[in-house]
Amino acid sequence: LVYDVAIRSVRVPGFSCVTVAFEDKTEVQEAGQMRRDFVANVSHELRTPLTAVLGFIETLLGPASEDAAARKRFLEIMDREAKRMNRIVGDLLSLSRVEAERRVRPTDRVDICALIRSVSLSLQPLARDAEVRLIVEGAEGVEEVPGDFDQLTQVFTNLIENAIKYGGRGKEVHICVTSHSVEPTMRGAGVRVDISDQGEGIATRHIPRLTERFYRVDSHRSREMGGTGLGLAIVKHILNRHRGRLRIESHPGQGSCFSVILPYE
Ligand code: ADP
Repeated sequence: LVYDVAIRSVRVPGFSCVTVAFEDKTEVQEAGQMRRDFVANVSHELRTPLTAVLGFIETLLGPASEDAAARKRFLEIMDREAKRMNRIVGDLLSLSRVEAERRVRPTDRVDICALIRSVSLSLQPLARDAEVRLIVEGAEGVEEVPGDFDQLTQVFTNLIENAIKYGGRGKEVHICVTSHSVEPTMRGAGVRVDISDQGEGIATRHIPRLTERFYRVDSHRSREMGGTGLGLAIVKHILNRHRGRLRIESHPGQGSCFSVILPYE
């Protein structure tokens, strides 16, 4: 806890008294610390691929300038690292856009079933490469929800992409859409989308931190898969703007289920 303390003496005829005022600065201090941590994290995340690119440029300009095979290999690595920086910058821009809009609740009507079908279709090539079967189920009596179509597309793309990436080769990903007249975590009715995979799962201690920016259970694995560590932070912010919820359940060794709940009103 951080306090600003002001001490004043007050003179009242016949009395002598001192007032002490405490102002709670904890939140201001925490916000400042979070901003500093964020800048440090972004710098670190961008510096790693940038250092690799700069190192390979130096080698290409020097010892490897005449070696065609080395040149091709190094250019491929530089291409991969530059694309990673591009994805990080793209995700940072998405995050800052949703943060700026967080108080404005979207009012367009979005057909979640149609959106899920279109996201699943566009992720088929990724699923095919990973030998994962995408199965869409449910969807009876689901009504449209107020929302921003592009942002909700991003939410489901991030979650289904993660289920494919971390679900394991040869496994299934189930996407189940259901309508709830009374959703226990909300006051009214809503639509719920469960995305479950059959991967390694996530240990309970990591679950509360997964939506933090750049938090990864296994950094090496995330980077190998082209992850930025920002996907779930973006999901959380978009859902907050929609007054929605994200629930994560996982059974290590059996898989994980990420549920999105969006209110009808
Ligand atoms: P990334 O770009 O690293 O995938 P995310 O923010 O999307 O970043 O996810 C954060 C971390 O949460 C991932 O690095 C991974 O460790 C974990 N994670 C996300 N989805 C799953 C899943 N379906 N199964 C297991 N781990 C997951």
